[in-house]
Amino acid sequence: MTKTLITVALWALAGYALGSWSNPHVGWGTLAFGLLLMVLVSGRQISLVTRWARNIESAPPASVGPWDDILSLIYRKLRADRETIARLQGDMQRMLEAAEALPDGAVTLDGQMNLTWSNRSAREHLGLQSHTDVGHSIFNMVRAPEFATYARQGRWEEPLQLHVQGPDQHRTLLVQLVDYGVDRYLMVTRDITQIERLETTRKDFVANVSHELRTPLTVLKGFLETLQDMPPDSLTADQRLRYVAMMQEQAARMEAIVSDLLTLSTLESSPLAEAEPVDMSALVHKALQQGRLLSRDQHVFVEHCEEDLQIEGVSAELASAVSNLITNAVRYTPQDGTITVSWYQDEEGRAIYSVQDTGIGIAAQDIPRLTERFYRADRGRSRATGGTGLGLAITKHVAMRHEAELRIKSRYGSGSTFSLVFPASRVLRATPSDAE
Ligand code: ADP
Repeated sequence: MTKTLITVALWALAGYALGSWSNPHVGWGTLAFGLLLMVLVSGRQISLVTRWARNIESAPPASVGPWDDILSLIYRKLRADRETIARLQGDMQRMLEAAEALPDGAVTLDGQMNLTWSNRSAREHLGLQSHTDVGHSIFNMVRAPEFATYARQGRWEEPLQLHVQGPDQHRTLLVQLVDYGVDRYLMVTRDITQIERLETTRKDFVANVSHELRTPLTVLKGFLETLQDMPPDSLTADQRLRYVAMMQEQAARMEAIVSDLLTLSTLESSPLAEAEPVDMSALVHKALQQGRLLSRDQHVFVEHCEEDLQIEGVSAELASAVSNLITNAVRYTPQDGTITVSWYQDEEGRAIYSVQDTGIGIAAQDIPRLTERFYRADRGRSRATGGTGLGLAITKHVAMRHEAELRIKSRYGSGSTFSLVFPASRVLRATPSDAE
């Protein structure tokens, strides 16, 4: 404003000076010219400012007279706002990325329970499509009637356990609705399929253990009651001995189950002991001796052992796996069958322990379940031969603890081959001095 007044005054002064020097018309003409020039300059500046205002993201025009100060103030404010927006956008983006990466599912819903946003886990849990499902009712996507009942309660103190069928698997979800803001809902989903499965396995296991122990216990109790109820001299010495032997058999069965359970629990809970070179052929020889005793010369044994082939591992654990497979071969192979035990290195450097029998074999549908605790393909034979149903579960655990694989090949009626395949990284060759 001051600048403008000074410029008008200067033009008036120039007009006055020229008017006094020449004549008054020249003076007025100079003043009029000056004012016109000022109007034109000002018009040009306004048009530069207007053009900038249309594209406010660009730098403001360099020299626009009285507008310079205003524009620099506006421009500074604009730049500060732009930086704030960029920072907020960055924060928002990071928050969205964090929400997207949450292991739990998160879904936001509007007042009518229409989907407004969902993260990756929620899309996976509920089979949502990120773009096409936005704006649609959650009840079209989660169709379980119990969910509709839960969602319509309006107050959600407890989560809902929901079973949903995904494209490739069945899931159990824990769903919790929360209201936030006005007419806004947050739905949190947690996949508890694994936890539920473990819980079922635990319950089954407890039921199985109780059942397994109850059978011999009932038999034992029956004998004791019979003995108690009988007049003292009504049993001959022979009969008494037979009863005692039968009771011992039941007690031994319970002892075997408890001992196998303890072995399993130790294998599951303890860290692997320090690995040391294990002379597997010595373990195989020992297990074969026990196998021959168990067989009572009713089977033919064939043995192929690479004597100097050793592996890094835990001897006691490997001994139980080695003998388990031989014992099973004896128990599930009828008289005169052949049992072939091999310990060798294959062309890929892996060490293989295999027990092949010509026994009763296993039906294809039973093979994948054999390593489950208490799973028996041939229940009668297992019981009759003192099986606990835990041997292969123990063997599989020992294998896993040695990075080995338990392979089972079998044909129902014509025999089986059980192999433990140890990785080449665990293989050692005994030097002659070790053998001495
Ligand atoms: P069990 O004490 O009952 O033998 P295991 O865990 O050792 O328990 O074996 C599980 C089941 O696998 C057995 O009940 C049996 O039906 C089957 N099985 C194991 N080894 C053999 C084999 N060599 N031949 C046929 N069936 C076998």
